[in-house]
Amino acid sequence: MSRAAGRGGPLLTRRDLLRAAGVATGTAIMGPTLARAVPPPWPLPVPTWLTGPIASADPGSIAALPVCRYRDEPAVGDPDTDWATMVLDTIHRLGPDDRPRRLVSVRKAGIASELGARIIPAAVDDLRALHDASVEAGAEVAIRTAYRSYAQQATVFSHWVAVSGERHARTISARPGHSEHQLGSALDFSGAGDPRAPWDHADWGRTAPGAWMREHAWRFGFVLSYPKGMTDRTCYAYEPWHYRYVGRHLAQAIQGSGLTPREYLWATFPGPTGA
Ligand SMILES: [Zn+2]
Repeated sequence: MSRAAGRGGPLLTRRDLLRAAGVATGTAIMGPTLARAVPPPWPLPVPTWLTGPIASADPGSIAALPVCRYRDEPAVGDPDTDWATMVLDTIHRLGPDDRPRRLVSVRKAGIASELGARIIPAAVDDLRALHDASVEAGAEVAIRTAYRSYAQQATVFSHWVAVSGERHARTISARPGHSEHQLGSALDFSGAGDPRAPWDHADWGRTAPGAWMREHAWRFGFVLSYPKGMTDRTCYAYEPWHYRYVGRHLAQAIQGSGLTPREYLWATFPGPTGA
């Protein structure tokens, strides 16, 4: 497991920081860089798993979002319990043996998948609700890919390196260990019955299912990891098909913040420092 990775800084425990994340407004915990980027304060619902009295933490002690770079630092948290809050980006990664304890077919959610996609059980009910709503809206979605192991991601990344060179591949594909798909909670959506992969569309976000997802997915707990025009924050090119399940409560908070999921999670769930 990739737990207990430090990010330098003072000796705050993860518990302290999670409690600090429960304060009613986000700016207090963001640090100066992020605080400037959003209109303060926005309503920040307390995630359901944050209970107990809220303590205060020194706002200056939490690191600002790092600029995009390529490192292999261990991701902070346990994928089995922190799958909603772990930051996986071009810097932080899971280990080769990190995998969800349990995975189930997305078909359990009544959604089509040609490739036998699997997800963590926690996402099934909301995925079913999302799919039902997309059908009702005349914008039915299907699943292209979901869980990918470290080894599968290595294959995918190698493919893109062969096609377009490593430098370009790094902007459109995650190096092994760095993919949110390894958590079992990230999904690549497509249009139901659409023979084309979403990445073969000029902009899948402009198709009926893609536009519906952008507007409504967060209501069902899914957030768009790599929105358009945010590459300097997300470190990846726009991917209108790639959503990560974080649960309805957290998805609502991320949506309300106006931040990308990477920025929001980094600021709100920094994990143990110096523990
Ligand atoms: Zn994806």
